[in-house]
Parts: sequence; C-alpha cells; structure tokens
Amino acid sequence: MMTNSAEEFDVCIVGASIAGNYLSYLLSKTDLNVVVVEEHRDIGLPLQCAGIISQKISNLINLPNNIVKHRVQIAKLVSPSGKFIELSGNEHPYVIDRTALDKHFYTLAQSNPKVSFYLGEKVKSIRILKEDFPPSVLISTTKRMIICKMLIGCDGPTSFVGSFLNVNNKLLYATQIRVNAQFNENKAVLVFNPRWKELFGWIVPEGDKTYRIGIASSDQIKDRFDVFLRMLNINSRNKIDQQGGLIPYGMMNKCAFNNIILLGDAAGQVKATTGGGIIMLITAAKIASECIQKAFKNNDFSKHFLKEHYEIPCKALIGEQLKIHFLIRKILESLDAEEFDYFFDIIKINHIENLISVYGDMDFPRDLAMKMLRNPMVIKFLLKFIIRRPLLLLKILFLLIRA
Ligand SMILES: Cc1cc2nc3c(=O)[nH]c(=O)nc-3n(C[C@H](O)[C@H](O)[C@H](O)COP(=O)(O)OP(=O)(O)OC[C@H]3O[C@@H](n4cnc5c(N)ncnc54)[C@H](O)[C@@H]3O)c2cc1C
Repeated sequence: MMTNSAEEFDVCIVGASIAGNYLSYLLSKTDLNVVVVEEHRDIGLPLQCAGIISQKISNLINLPNNIVKHRVQIAKLVSPSGKFIELSGNEHPYVIDRTALDKHFYTLAQSNPKVSFYLGEKVKSIRILKEDFPPSVLISTTKRMIICKMLIGCDGPTSFVGSFLNVNNKLLYATQIRVNAQFNENKAVLVFNPRWKELFGWIVPEGDKTYRIGIASSDQIKDRFDVFLRMLNINSRNKIDQQGGLIPYGMMNKCAFNNIILLGDAAGQVKATTGGGIIMLITAAKIASECIQKAFKNNDFSKHFLKEHYEIPCKALIGEQLKIHFLIRKILESLDAEEFDYFFDIIKINHIENLISVYGDMDFPRDLAMKMLRNPMVIKFLLKFIIRRPLLLLKILFLLIRA
C-alpha cells in the first residue's frame, strides 16, 4: 500500500454516531487534528434507538431542552403472566430525540477547524505501521488513505475496528415502531416474556400520544414482534415509521490495543438489563478523551499505556457495573413465568419497590443489589433459584471471572 499519498491526522475516529460525535466534540477542545469517518451521509440516520435515558445524562452533558421530547414518572414492569410492579421515585428518565443528540455534538465538534468529518465513506482496511516510531496506523476508506497515531473504533455493535482486533460482540436484534396509541403517557412499560427473554418488549411514550414500541431478541424478531403487537392490540399498519438495529449482549470487551481503542457499542459498553448504551459510552468517552491527550503528551500509544489510562479506569467505573447488569440479565432470562410472579410478589410484600425507587439507579445497580441482598426473602429466592440451576451458576461465575 502507498503511504505517501495518505492524509495525516493525529486521531481517526470511525463512526459518527453518538460515541464518535461526542468524543470528537471532547477532542475539539484540544489541539489535536481529528478526522471522523462515517459510512452514512446523514448524521443520526438511520435512527436505531428508543431514546430513553436516565436523568443522570444531564449531570454528564449539557442537554439542550429541544432534544428532550418527554419525561416519564413511572416504570411499569410486566411479568409473562401479566402481573406487574410499578416503580416511581426520584428517577424521571428523559425520552430524547436521538438524531438531534447525535447532530448536536457533530455541530459542536465542527466549530474547531482541526476536526474534519468524512461522511458517506466506509473504512475498509487497517494496518499498523510498525516501521514508524512510535508506530502509526494506516487506514483505507472507500475514498482515501489516512495515517494517524490513534484509531478509535466507535463503529457500533458489528465494529469493523473490533473485528480487526478479534473483538466481536454477541448480538440481539431489535425492532421498533412509532405509533399513535392510547397508553399512559407517564409510564415506560417493560414487558418480560420467555419468547424475547434476552431483553423485554418496551412501550416508551414520546409525548403527543405517540409511543415507541419495540422488542429485542436473539432470533425470530419479526414473528415475535408481531406477537407483541397483537398482545398490545396494535396494528402495525398504523405505524408512523419503523426502526431496527443490533444491540451488543454481554459485558464490556477488552478495549485498549496498540494505537487503538474501542468505545461505545464497539466495546460492548451496553447494559445487559436494558440494552441502553448512551450513559455508559458518554462516561467512557470522557475517560477516552483524557487518555488520548495523555498518550500524545507522552508520545506513547502502546497497548500498555492505553490500557492503564483507558481500559482499567473504564472497567472500574462502568465495567464492574456492567457485570452486575449481566448477572441480573442471566437471572431474569432463566426465570419461568411462575418464578417471575413469585419474585414480583417478594418485591411487593417487602416494599422493595420503595428501595428500588430510592436506590434504584438505572445505570449503576451495585448499591441497590447490595441493599436487596439484605432481605431474607430475596436471599431465599436466590438460593432456591441457584439450587435448581447449579450449571447456570457455574457458567455465570466462569463468565464473570473471565471478564
Ligand atoms: C432499537 C434500539 C433501541 C435502543 N434504545 C436505547 C435507549 O432507549 N437508551 C439507550 O441508552 N440506548 C439505547 N440503545 C442503544 C444505543 O442506541 C447504542 O448504545 C448507541 O447508539 C451506541 O452508539 P455508538 O456510537 O457506539 O454506535 P452506533 O450508534 O451503532 O454507531 C456506529 C456508527 O459507526 C458507523 N460505522 C460502522 N462501521 C463503519 C465503517 N466501517 N466505516 C465508517 N463508519 C462505520 C455506523 O454507520 C454508525 O453511524 C438502543 C439500540 C437499539 C438498536
């Protein structure tokens, strides 16, 4: 490959969705020359999100009012048999215009001329140039070649950068329609069902009697979605529009390599309980931005350096929490309908709804999990659950230790 015709940048980000745009915005406050390569021509499209985010987002970023479409007061969790619990408390999640959020950071990043965006261009190959000192990365896109010191894979669940590094996500298929309907506008509803046990079906109100209704599942997504819509008495022919996408399923991946880091869905920074990734990736992007600046200051782009300044802090801040999300997911997935109802009863009888309302953090569940484990009925339930499934316990322990 000819390298003398390649364009030179300090940092190349692959993917101009929320992870890539937010990181480019953070880097636009530095002196670094940054290029973002995105295969689609339009930022934020195609839309692949239900757009529900905990209110913590407003502590992490300056969230413009026009991006917030609605807020919900209550989370209603419905068991396979139709039993439900309602959680209301201090958390009033935002329902956002996700395309507008992606565009917001894209526009802010562009205010610095040192940040360039190449849209409608796909990254096709990556090569580490070990002959350079320190080594560089040569990237070829469908239109040009780029040389940089750091490559950031923000290219989503089926990350090309990740595949280059042998990091591959296990995936769930997700589908969603927007439709006018008559549900409660104050409630986000999560419907658990063995047919889509790897996540849940959702009803998210976006205001003006419009709802985002979707499910995620490991297969047969179309048939299962039809079942869900029939359960809700919704005719898909009345939809306003439809979205689809992939959600990484599991825990955080390894995300620091020589000259390269992975961020967002590419790094599996997604909650296995809800499929939500935005809070996690915004948190990780802040660490990534600091790490990249330190790498340039020290002229050190080695895996060892990037691991110390990105992967290890990420693991401590979000990776450990993502393990708990995964553990909860594995338990929820293997509950049968009767156990689900029994678990909901335990929550109701012991007023654990209040505990969840006060301590239940949509993103960081460790404190709540510890508090719930002090309840004798919860412990009894879990022991019974484990005794019935010793192999599952071993499998989970193995996965958690390995992660
Ligand atoms: C149906 C659905 C509902 C969801 N709902 C929620 C929710 O309510 N709340 C929440 O927090 N999260 C939700 N998520 C998850 C959330 O959308 C993701 O965590 C988030 O979009 C990840 O952002 P990202 O930038 O890492 O990756 P992505 O948004 O996947 O973006 C990757 C980008 O990289 C580009 N790209 C890929 N390969 C290349 C290449 N080779 N060259 C150039 N460009 C490339 C893609 O075109 C894309 O723009 C949902 C996901 C789905 C699918």
